[in-house]
Amino acid sequence: NKQIVLKNYVIDFPKESDMLLKKTIIKLKVPEDSLNSILVKNLYLSCDPYMRNRMSKREDSYIDSFTPDYPITGYGVATVVDSAHPNFKKGDLVWGITGWEEYSLIKSPETIFKIQNMDVPLSYYTGILGMPGITAYFGFYEVCSPKKGEFVYVSAASGAVGQLVGQFAKLLGCYVVGSAGSKEKVNLLKNNFGFDDAFNYKEEPDLSEALKRYFPNGIDIYFDNVGGKMLDAVLINMRLHGRIAVCGMISQYNMKQPEGVHNLFCLITKRIRMEGFLVRDYYHLYPKFLETILPKIIEGKIKYVEDTAEGLESAPGALLGLFSGRNVGKQVVVIAHE
Ligand code: NDP
Repeated sequence: NKQIVLKNYVIDFPKESDMLLKKTIIKLKVPEDSLNSILVKNLYLSCDPYMRNRMSKREDSYIDSFTPDYPITGYGVATVVDSAHPNFKKGDLVWGITGWEEYSLIKSPETIFKIQNMDVPLSYYTGILGMPGITAYFGFYEVCSPKKGEFVYVSAASGAVGQLVGQFAKLLGCYVVGSAGSKEKVNLLKNNFGFDDAFNYKEEPDLSEALKRYFPNGIDIYFDNVGGKMLDAVLINMRLHGRIAVCGMISQYNMKQPEGVHNLFCLITKRIRMEGFLVRDYYHLYPKFLETILPKIIEGKIKYVEDTAEGLESAPGALLGLFSGRNVGKQVVVIAHE
Protein backbone atom coordinates (compact mmCIF):
# COMPACT_ATOMS: atom_id res chain seq x y z
CA ASN A 1 0.00 0.00 0.00
CA LYS A 2 1.66 3.22 -1.16
CA GLN A 3 1.12 6.14 1.21
CA ILE A 4 2.03 9.82 1.49
CA VAL A 5 3.09 10.60 5.06
CA LEU A 6 3.99 13.87 6.76
CA LYS A 7 7.72 13.85 7.50
CA ASN A 8 7.79 16.56 10.14
CA TYR A 9 5.66 19.47 11.27
CA VAL A 10 5.98 22.43 8.96
CA ILE A 11 6.83 26.05 9.72
CA ASP A 12 6.34 28.76 7.05
CA PHE A 13 5.94 27.64 3.45
CA PRO A 14 5.71 23.81 3.12
CA LYS A 15 8.00 21.94 0.71
CA GLU A 16 7.42 18.71 -1.20
CA SER A 17 10.16 17.12 0.91
CA ASP A 18 7.96 17.67 4.01
CA MET A 19 5.93 14.72 2.67
CA LEU A 20 7.32 11.26 1.92
CA LEU A 21 6.21 8.27 -0.10
CA LYS A 22 6.10 5.14 2.03
CA LYS A 23 5.22 1.53 1.21
CA THR A 24 3.53 -0.89 3.61
CA ILE A 25 1.96 -4.29 3.20
CA ILE A 26 -1.68 -4.66 4.12
CA LYS A 27 -4.38 -7.32 3.89
CA LEU A 28 -7.28 -6.32 1.68
CA LYS A 29 -9.78 -7.28 4.40
CA VAL A 30 -11.26 -5.49 7.37
CA PRO A 31 -9.56 -6.93 10.49
CA GLU A 32 -11.91 -9.17 12.45
CA ASP A 33 -11.77 -7.07 15.63
CA SER A 34 -12.52 -3.74 13.93
CA LEU A 35 -16.27 -3.47 14.28
CA ASN A 36 -17.99 -1.05 11.88
CA SER A 37 -14.83 -0.31 9.86
CA ILE A 38 -14.69 -0.21 6.10
CA LEU A 39 -11.73 -0.82 3.81
CA VAL A 40 -11.73 1.39 0.72
CA LYS A 41 -9.72 1.70 -2.47
CA ASN A 42 -9.07 5.41 -3.04
CA LEU A 43 -9.89 6.78 -6.49
CA TYR A 44 -9.63 10.58 -6.18
CA LEU A 45 -8.01 12.74 -3.51
CA SER A 46 -8.87 16.35 -2.89
CA CYS A 47 -6.22 19.02 -2.22
CA ASP A 48 -7.65 21.65 0.10
CA PRO A 49 -6.04 24.76 1.61
CA TYR A 50 -7.13 23.92 5.19
CA MET A 51 -4.75 20.93 5.07
CA ARG A 52 -1.88 23.40 5.51
CA ASN A 53 -3.09 24.09 9.08
CA ARG A 54 -2.93 20.38 9.83
CA MET A 55 0.72 20.23 8.71
CA SER A 56 1.78 22.40 11.67
CA LYS A 57 1.80 21.44 15.31
CA ARG A 58 -0.95 23.48 16.91
CA GLU A 59 -3.23 23.12 19.84
CA ASP A 60 -5.32 26.18 19.04
CA SER A 61 -6.90 24.90 15.81
CA TYR A 62 -10.45 23.78 15.12
CA ILE A 63 -8.98 20.63 13.61
CA ASP A 64 -6.26 18.18 14.71
CA SER A 65 -2.73 18.30 13.31
CA PHE A 66 -1.55 15.44 11.11
CA THR A 67 0.66 12.87 12.82
CA PRO A 68 4.21 12.63 11.43
CA ASP A 69 4.99 9.29 9.79
CA TYR A 70 1.28 8.52 9.32
CA PRO A 71 -0.62 9.01 6.06
CA ILE A 72 -2.03 12.45 5.47
CA THR A 73 -5.81 12.43 5.60
CA GLY A 74 -8.25 14.48 3.56
CA TYR A 75 -11.39 14.33 1.45
CA GLY A 76 -11.55 11.79 -1.33
CA VAL A 77 -13.71 9.49 -3.42
CA ALA A 78 -13.30 5.76 -2.96
CA THR A 79 -14.85 2.38 -3.57
CA VAL A 80 -15.59 -0.03 -0.71
CA VAL A 81 -13.47 -3.20 -0.89
CA ASP A 82 -14.61 -4.82 2.36
CA SER A 83 -17.01 -3.76 5.07
CA ALA A 84 -17.88 -4.61 8.66
CA HIS A 85 -20.40 -1.76 8.74
CA PRO A 86 -24.10 -2.47 8.20
CA ASN A 87 -24.60 0.60 5.95
CA PHE A 88 -21.80 -0.16 3.51
CA LYS A 89 -21.09 -3.11 1.24
CA LYS A 90 -18.38 -4.10 -1.20
CA GLY A 91 -18.63 -2.08 -4.42
CA ASP A 92 -20.30 1.00 -2.86
CA LEU A 93 -18.88 4.32 -4.03
CA VAL A 94 -18.31 6.81 -1.22
CA TRP A 95 -16.85 10.25 -0.52
CA GLY A 96 -15.51 11.72 2.71
CA ILE A 97 -12.39 11.70 4.85
CA THR A 98 -9.90 9.09 3.72
CA GLY A 99 -6.12 8.63 3.64
CA TRP A 100 -3.51 9.73 1.12
CA GLU A 101 -2.79 6.13 0.19
CA GLU A 102 -3.99 3.45 -2.20
CA TYR A 103 -6.19 1.66 0.36
CA SER A 104 -7.55 3.05 3.63
CA LEU A 105 -9.13 1.40 6.63
CA ILE A 106 -11.78 3.84 7.81
CA LYS A 107 -12.68 3.22 11.41
CA SER A 108 -15.37 5.87 11.78
CA PRO A 109 -17.47 5.96 8.62
CA GLU A 110 -19.62 8.77 10.14
CA THR A 111 -17.54 11.07 7.95
CA ILE A 112 -18.36 9.04 4.83
CA PHE A 113 -21.25 9.73 2.44
CA LYS A 114 -22.54 7.10 0.02
CA ILE A 115 -22.57 8.29 -3.61
CA GLN A 116 -26.00 7.69 -5.11
CA ASN A 117 -25.85 9.64 -8.35
CA MET A 118 -23.35 8.80 -11.06
CA ASP A 119 -24.62 11.08 -13.85
CA VAL A 120 -21.64 13.35 -13.25
CA PRO A 121 -17.92 12.52 -13.06
CA LEU A 122 -17.06 10.86 -9.75
CA SER A 123 -14.28 13.37 -9.09
CA TYR A 124 -17.00 16.04 -8.64
CA TYR A 125 -17.58 14.58 -5.16
CA THR A 126 -14.22 16.07 -4.13
CA GLY A 127 -15.43 19.51 -5.20
CA ILE A 128 -18.72 20.84 -6.48
CA LEU A 129 -20.69 17.93 -4.95
CA GLY A 130 -18.45 17.64 -1.90
CA MET A 131 -16.94 19.85 0.78
CA PRO A 132 -16.07 22.92 -1.38
CA GLY A 133 -19.51 22.90 -3.01
CA ILE A 134 -21.27 22.82 0.36
CA THR A 135 -18.98 25.64 1.52
CA ALA A 136 -19.81 27.82 -1.48
CA TYR A 137 -23.54 27.13 -1.33
CA PHE A 138 -24.21 27.69 2.36
CA GLY A 139 -21.47 30.31 2.71
CA PHE A 140 -23.17 32.36 0.04
CA TYR A 141 -26.88 31.71 0.58
CA GLU A 142 -26.84 31.49 4.40
CA VAL A 143 -23.93 33.61 5.61
CA CYS A 144 -24.08 36.41 3.01
CA SER A 145 -27.91 36.86 3.10
CA PRO A 146 -27.78 37.90 -0.57
CA LYS A 147 -30.45 39.83 -2.46
CA LYS A 148 -30.99 40.24 -6.17
CA GLY A 149 -29.14 43.21 -7.65
CA GLU A 150 -26.49 43.41 -4.92
CA PHE A 151 -22.81 43.99 -5.67
CA VAL A 152 -20.75 40.91 -4.87
CA TYR A 153 -16.98 40.51 -4.78
CA VAL A 154 -15.23 37.11 -4.59
CA SER A 155 -11.48 36.61 -4.04
CA ALA A 156 -9.58 33.46 -5.16
CA ALA A 157 -12.54 33.42 -7.51
CA SER A 158 -11.42 30.76 -9.99
CA GLY A 159 -10.78 28.14 -7.30
CA ALA A 160 -12.96 25.32 -6.05
CA VAL A 161 -15.13 27.50 -3.81
CA GLY A 162 -14.84 30.85 -5.61
CA GLN A 163 -15.98 29.71 -9.06
CA LEU A 164 -19.20 28.38 -7.51
CA VAL A 165 -19.90 31.38 -5.29
CA GLY A 166 -19.68 33.67 -8.33
CA GLN A 167 -22.08 31.52 -10.31
CA PHE A 168 -24.56 31.26 -7.43
CA ALA A 169 -24.49 35.05 -7.16
CA LYS A 170 -25.12 35.40 -10.90
CA LEU A 171 -28.02 32.93 -10.76
CA LEU A 172 -29.59 35.15 -8.09
CA GLY A 173 -29.20 38.27 -10.24
CA CYS A 174 -26.31 39.95 -8.46
CA TYR A 175 -23.50 41.96 -10.08
CA VAL A 176 -20.36 39.88 -9.54
CA VAL A 177 -16.68 40.68 -9.79
CA GLY A 178 -13.92 38.18 -9.02
CA SER A 179 -10.18 38.44 -8.58
CA ALA A 180 -7.56 35.81 -9.34
CA GLY A 181 -3.82 35.57 -9.81
CA SER A 182 -3.32 35.17 -13.58
CA LYS A 183 -4.62 36.30 -16.95
CA GLU A 184 -5.79 32.78 -17.72
CA LYS A 185 -7.87 32.69 -14.53
CA VAL A 186 -9.32 36.15 -15.17
CA ASN A 187 -10.42 35.02 -18.65
CA LEU A 188 -12.00 31.93 -17.16
CA LEU A 189 -14.00 34.05 -14.71
CA LYS A 190 -15.34 36.32 -17.42
CA ASN A 191 -15.79 33.89 -20.30
CA ASN A 192 -16.58 30.58 -18.65
CA PHE A 193 -18.16 31.29 -15.28
CA GLY A 194 -20.07 34.41 -16.40
CA PHE A 195 -18.71 36.91 -13.86
CA ASP A 196 -19.59 40.47 -14.87
CA ASP A 197 -15.97 41.48 -14.47
CA ALA A 198 -12.69 40.18 -13.10
CA PHE A 199 -9.14 41.36 -12.43
CA ASN A 200 -5.67 40.02 -11.66
CA TYR A 201 -4.91 41.21 -8.13
CA LYS A 202 -1.18 40.62 -8.68
CA GLU A 203 -1.12 43.40 -11.28
CA GLU A 204 -2.78 45.97 -9.01
CA PRO A 205 -0.34 48.16 -7.08
CA ASP A 206 -3.18 49.52 -4.94
CA LEU A 207 -5.95 47.01 -4.14
CA SER A 208 -8.27 49.60 -2.70
CA GLU A 209 -8.05 51.72 -5.87
CA ALA A 210 -8.68 48.64 -7.98
CA LEU A 211 -11.82 47.81 -6.00
CA LYS A 212 -13.03 51.42 -6.37
CA ARG A 213 -12.71 51.02 -10.13
CA TYR A 214 -14.76 47.82 -10.21
CA PHE A 215 -17.27 48.92 -7.57
CA PRO A 216 -17.66 52.71 -7.86
CA ASN A 217 -20.72 52.50 -5.58
CA GLY A 218 -19.19 50.00 -3.15
CA ILE A 219 -19.52 46.31 -2.31
CA ASP A 220 -22.59 44.77 -0.64
CA ILE A 221 -21.16 41.28 -0.20
CA TYR A 222 -17.56 40.13 0.06
CA PHE A 223 -16.93 36.39 0.00
CA ASP A 224 -13.45 36.27 1.51
CA ASN A 225 -11.20 33.39 0.56
CA VAL A 226 -7.87 35.13 1.14
CA GLY A 227 -7.88 37.53 4.14
CA GLY A 228 -4.87 39.84 4.74
CA LYS A 229 -4.31 42.91 2.55
CA MET A 230 -7.26 42.13 0.31
CA LEU A 231 -9.66 42.05 3.25
CA ASP A 232 -8.28 45.37 4.44
CA ALA A 233 -8.81 46.95 1.02
CA VAL A 234 -12.34 45.55 0.82
CA LEU A 235 -13.36 46.94 4.22
CA ILE A 236 -13.01 50.54 3.11
CA ASN A 237 -14.92 49.77 -0.10
CA MET A 238 -17.92 48.16 1.60
CA ARG A 239 -21.35 49.74 1.48
CA LEU A 240 -23.55 50.43 4.49
CA HIS A 241 -24.99 47.20 5.95
CA GLY A 242 -22.69 45.09 3.81
CA ARG A 243 -21.85 41.50 4.66
CA ILE A 244 -18.53 39.70 4.66
CA ALA A 245 -18.46 35.90 4.75
CA VAL A 246 -15.10 34.90 6.17
CA CYS A 247 -14.59 31.61 4.40
CA GLY A 248 -10.81 31.38 4.38
CA MET A 249 -7.57 33.33 4.65
CA ILE A 250 -5.19 31.51 2.34
CA SER A 251 -2.81 34.51 2.14
CA GLN A 252 -2.07 33.96 5.85
CA TYR A 253 -1.69 30.18 6.11
CA ASN A 254 2.09 30.11 5.56
CA MET A 255 2.88 33.16 7.70
CA LYS A 256 4.33 32.94 11.18
CA GLN A 257 2.74 36.27 12.09
CA PRO A 258 -0.62 37.08 10.52
CA GLU A 259 -0.66 40.27 8.47
CA GLY A 260 -2.40 43.16 10.19
CA VAL A 261 -5.85 44.26 9.10
CA HIS A 262 -6.15 47.98 9.81
CA ASN A 263 -9.61 48.94 8.64
CA LEU A 264 -11.79 47.00 11.09
CA PHE A 265 -13.33 50.24 12.34
CA CYS A 266 -15.33 50.21 9.07
CA LEU A 267 -17.36 47.38 10.63
CA ILE A 268 -18.84 49.99 12.95
CA THR A 269 -19.13 53.03 10.72
CA LYS A 270 -20.72 51.04 7.89
CA ARG A 271 -22.64 48.58 10.12
CA ILE A 272 -21.05 45.69 8.25
CA ARG A 273 -21.77 42.13 9.37
CA MET A 274 -18.65 39.99 9.15
CA GLU A 275 -19.17 36.33 9.94
CA GLY A 276 -16.89 33.34 9.89
CA PHE A 277 -18.27 29.89 9.19
CA LEU A 278 -17.22 26.26 8.90
CA VAL A 279 -18.59 23.94 6.27
CA ARG A 280 -19.04 21.16 8.83
CA ASP A 281 -21.96 23.09 10.35
CA TYR A 282 -23.93 22.50 7.15
CA TYR A 283 -23.32 18.81 6.44
CA HIS A 284 -26.74 17.84 7.78
CA LEU A 285 -28.22 19.80 4.85
CA TYR A 286 -26.27 17.80 2.25
CA PRO A 287 -29.33 16.01 0.75
CA LYS A 288 -31.07 19.37 0.20
CA PHE A 289 -27.91 20.78 -1.36
CA LEU A 290 -27.56 17.80 -3.71
CA GLU A 291 -31.19 18.10 -4.81
CA THR A 292 -30.61 21.72 -5.83
CA ILE A 293 -27.18 21.45 -7.40
CA LEU A 294 -27.26 18.17 -9.34
CA PRO A 295 -29.94 19.26 -11.83
CA LYS A 296 -28.13 22.57 -12.36
CA ILE A 297 -24.91 20.73 -13.26
CA ILE A 298 -26.69 18.28 -15.54
CA GLU A 299 -28.59 21.09 -17.32
CA GLY A 300 -25.32 23.02 -17.75
CA LYS A 301 -26.52 25.97 -15.64
CA ILE A 302 -23.43 25.69 -13.47
CA LYS A 303 -19.98 25.22 -14.96
CA TYR A 304 -17.18 23.54 -13.11
CA VAL A 305 -13.45 23.43 -13.80
CA GLU A 306 -11.02 20.93 -12.29
CA ASP A 307 -7.26 20.68 -12.38
CA THR A 308 -6.22 17.04 -12.32
CA ALA A 309 -2.88 15.57 -11.23
CA GLU A 310 -2.16 11.91 -11.96
CA GLY A 311 -0.91 9.45 -9.35
CA LEU A 312 -0.36 9.45 -5.59
CA GLU A 313 3.25 10.61 -6.12
CA SER A 314 1.97 13.89 -7.57
CA ALA A 315 -0.22 14.66 -4.52
CA PRO A 316 2.35 16.65 -2.46
CA GLY A 317 3.16 18.93 -5.39
CA ALA A 318 -0.52 19.38 -6.18
CA LEU A 319 -1.27 20.36 -2.58
CA LEU A 320 1.56 22.90 -2.46
CA GLY A 321 0.43 24.34 -5.80
CA LEU A 322 -2.63 25.77 -4.01
CA PHE A 323 -0.37 28.22 -2.18
CA SER A 324 1.33 29.54 -5.31
CA GLY A 325 -1.87 29.54 -7.37
CA ARG A 326 -0.67 26.81 -9.74
CA ASN A 327 -4.08 25.15 -9.78
CA VAL A 328 -6.64 26.34 -12.29
CA GLY A 329 -9.93 25.27 -10.73
CA LYS A 330 -10.47 22.54 -8.16
CA GLN A 331 -7.28 20.54 -7.52
CA VAL A 332 -7.89 16.80 -7.68
CA VAL A 333 -5.42 13.89 -7.65
CA VAL A 334 -6.35 10.69 -9.50
CA ILE A 335 -5.18 7.62 -7.59
CA ALA A 336 -6.98 4.95 -9.56
CA HIS A 337 -9.60 4.92 -12.28
CA GLU A 338 -12.90 3.37 -11.31
P1 NDP B 1 -8.65 27.18 -4.41
O1 NDP B 1 -9.09 26.12 -5.34
O2 NDP B 1 -9.17 28.56 -4.63
O3 NDP B 1 -7.06 27.20 -4.38
C1 NDP B 1 -6.38 28.16 -3.64
C2 NDP B 1 -6.17 29.47 -4.46
O4 NDP B 1 -5.88 30.51 -3.56
C3 NDP B 1 -4.96 29.40 -5.37
O5 NDP B 1 -5.24 28.81 -6.61
C4 NDP B 1 -4.61 30.88 -5.51
O6 NDP B 1 -5.32 31.44 -6.60
C5 NDP B 1 -5.14 31.51 -4.21
N1 NDP B 1 -4.03 31.97 -3.35
C6 NDP B 1 -2.98 31.22 -2.91
N2 NDP B 1 -2.16 31.99 -2.16
C7 NDP B 1 -2.70 33.23 -2.14
C8 NDP B 1 -2.32 34.46 -1.55
N3 NDP B 1 -1.20 34.58 -0.81
N4 NDP B 1 -3.10 35.55 -1.75
C9 NDP B 1 -4.24 35.46 -2.49
N5 NDP B 1 -4.66 34.33 -3.08
C10 NDP B 1 -3.90 33.22 -2.90
O7 NDP B 1 -9.02 26.77 -2.91
P2 NDP B 1 -10.47 26.49 -2.32
O8 NDP B 1 -11.49 27.09 -3.21
O9 NDP B 1 -10.56 25.07 -1.97
O10 NDP B 1 -10.47 27.34 -0.96
C11 NDP B 1 -10.65 28.74 -0.99
C12 NDP B 1 -10.66 29.28 0.45
O11 NDP B 1 -11.78 28.75 1.14
C13 NDP B 1 -9.43 28.91 1.26
O12 NDP B 1 -9.05 30.02 2.04
C14 NDP B 1 -9.93 27.79 2.15
O13 NDP B 1 -9.20 27.66 3.33
C15 NDP B 1 -11.36 28.23 2.39
N6 NDP B 1 -12.29 27.17 2.79
C16 NDP B 1 -13.02 27.33 3.94
C17 NDP B 1 -13.95 26.41 4.35
C18 NDP B 1 -14.75 26.67 5.57
O14 NDP B 1 -15.38 25.74 6.08
N7 NDP B 1 -14.76 27.88 6.08
C19 NDP B 1 -14.14 25.18 3.59
C20 NDP B 1 -13.40 25.11 2.33
C21 NDP B 1 -12.50 26.09 1.97
P3 NDP B 1 -4.83 32.79 -7.35
O15 NDP B 1 -4.05 32.34 -8.54
O16 NDP B 1 -6.10 33.45 -7.67
O17 NDP B 1 -3.98 33.55 -6.37
